[in-house]
Amino acid sequence: MSDVAKRGTAVPAPLAWDYAPAPEARDIVSFEARYGLYIGGEVVEPRSGEWYSTISPATEEHLAEVATARTEDVDVAVQAARDAFENGWSSLRPGERAKYLFRIARILLERSREFAVAESLNSGKPIKESRDVDLPISAAHFFYYAGWADKLEYAFPNRSPRPLGVAGQIIPWNFPLLMLAWKIAPALACGNTVVLKPSHTTPLTALLFTDVCRQAGLPPGVVNIVTGDGRTGADLVRHPDVDKIAFTGSTEVGKDIQRAVAGTRKRLTLELGGKAANIVFDDAALDQAIEGIINGIYFNQGEVCCAGSRLLVQESIYEQVIAKLKRRMETLRVGDPLDKNTDVGAINSREQLERITELVASGEEEGAEIFQPSCALPERGFWFRPTVFTNVAQSYRIAQEEIFGPVLSVLTFRTPDEAVEKANNTAYGLSAGVWTEKGSRILWMAERLRAGVVWANTFNRFDPASPFGGYKESGFGREGGRHGLEAYLRFD
Ligand code: NAP
Ligand code: MG
Repeated sequence: MSDVAKRGTAVPAPLAWDYAPAPEARDIVSFEARYGLYIGGEVVEPRSGEWYSTISPATEEHLAEVATARTEDVDVAVQAARDAFENGWSSLRPGERAKYLFRIARILLERSREFAVAESLNSGKPIKESRDVDLPISAAHFFYYAGWADKLEYAFPNRSPRPLGVAGQIIPWNFPLLMLAWKIAPALACGNTVVLKPSHTTPLTALLFTDVCRQAGLPPGVVNIVTGDGRTGADLVRHPDVDKIAFTGSTEVGKDIQRAVAGTRKRLTLELGGKAANIVFDDAALDQAIEGIINGIYFNQGEVCCAGSRLLVQESIYEQVIAKLKRRMETLRVGDPLDKNTDVGAINSREQLERITELVASGEEEGAEIFQPSCALPERGFWFRPTVFTNVAQSYRIAQEEIFGPVLSVLTFRTPDEAVEKANNTAYGLSAGVWTEKGSRILWMAERLRAGVVWANTFNRFDPASPFGGYKESGFGREGGRHGLEAYLRFD
């Protein structure tokens, strides 16, 4: 079959009208030419003398030079965090710690447009999402944990909660600022200090965040940011004076980290990959479910650990769901992340685009049927069309491996038991979605799905009060909620 016949011709575009460009003003952000490391409250040159260029994945345009921290730099950052922990932060009155967190939350809200634009520029995600999801939820995390800072005794009665010390935190590129907030807010609320390493492709909002720390008057060394690549992360993991490692990223690196901290006193939480089942029963409100399927897999270009990347549809409604889904896919607007109408932005890096392309090719080779809407893609930058695979067997790589891109694999089931069996037939266990009108069925399913989060008649909802985390190869430990405090406290 020719490429044209396969892609985008199965359903006619429902609307011939196009949207006029609606770009968000980019001049609200001014990046510095160069960003050093943020250590002990100051911006310092890397002792390594190494710098690299960070780009916009939508245009491949250079945005700024960023320092690469090597072993010695990581060591200085950990020392700064240790000093801050011993000399003030851990013994500060909890109500005072809360004030700093409240301030950070408020400043993030005040500067949210600037941060949203910076995030979209550096990560490729649509401004609609950075503006309406990443920024408000990041601020909400600081507000939420600020509230806990002076109530730890009530969260854990009779258990004498105390901070761990220095936390090494390693975060990925899919939600750069949000993952920073998930890590830093609970750590600080509990009285720890941190050294955080952003992903090398998306360091800019973490570096802008150092300015928020200064604005909030946060004591030097409480938050330290070391930029660099995987080696920088590995140095942080292996540093002997780090008390806790919190990691979000791939299962492969997570396993590596687990091996590295085995036998040490370091505490560890791992938030790894996923291959979530989004399960649609024949009694579901179908149009609502279609929106949930679209949101589940195309939100943030599918670069989401809890993405609903396996769609399980009850056989009796299969044809109907696929027809509606394809029709809806034709309306997705792919393109400039800074355009307010954009639904699907750029893939974060060339490397990630190659990974997605390779996995999609494997799906076609293994015999699945591909559908992509006919949308045009920009010429420069890293782009991938929203994709759906039908005719997928459970054994295919596209049904087993995390693609981390806008690619949905569709499977079918007949009975609730079969749905559970197929949903759980994965090495992962991070999230799942259930679409049905029956409350009893939702509860029945939720009890049986081996997933840390189960959404019912919705998908990709996040709230700081709600714990998030996985089973099996999706990792362990919970972030968010009261559970999220526990990862940063000791009780001995
Ligand atoms: P990754 O390598 O696991 O990156 C996550 C973080 O760990 C980044 O800050 C990374 O630094 C750092 N890192 C890399 N190697 C390390 C090491 N040996 N020790 C300590 N830290 C290390 O993920 P990726 O390569 O960006 O993406 C690969 C795949 O992972 C994706 O296709 C996706 O399937 C999955 N992933 C999952 C999540 C999630 O939220 N669960 C997030 C991202 C990716 P650099 O980025 O600077 O290399
Ligand atoms: Mg990697």
